[in-house]
Amino acid sequence: MTNLSIIKCKACGSFNRNLDYCSNCGELINPALIREENIDKRKKKHLEQLKKEQVEAENSFLNKLRNHRFWLVRAFGNIVHSVWVILLAVGSFLAWLAATISA
Ligand SMILES: [Zn+2]
Repeated sequence: MTNLSIIKCKACGSFNRNLDYCSNCGELINPALIREENIDKRKKKHLEQLKKEQVEAENSFLNKLRNHRFWLVRAFGNIVHSVWVILLAVGSFLAWLAATISA
């Protein structure tokens, strides 16, 4: 098997031999590199989405309660938050337990 490959540029239609970039217009034409670039883009998008969700979580109703200027509301917010954290911990423990028993 040879490494020789002729790739048609999608942007301008000219043929290139063993090149990563189009000799005519400079467009990326190496399929492996294009795939890598797409994976990078997707990763970046995913990270941005995560960041956005984090910001939204910080601005959530519960966090507003926890940062409220009235201490009773803050205390209530903290209690609800604690209950929520405990529920998550118990929930994940039960999920782990179920997975361990059935395995
Ligand atoms: Zn081209």
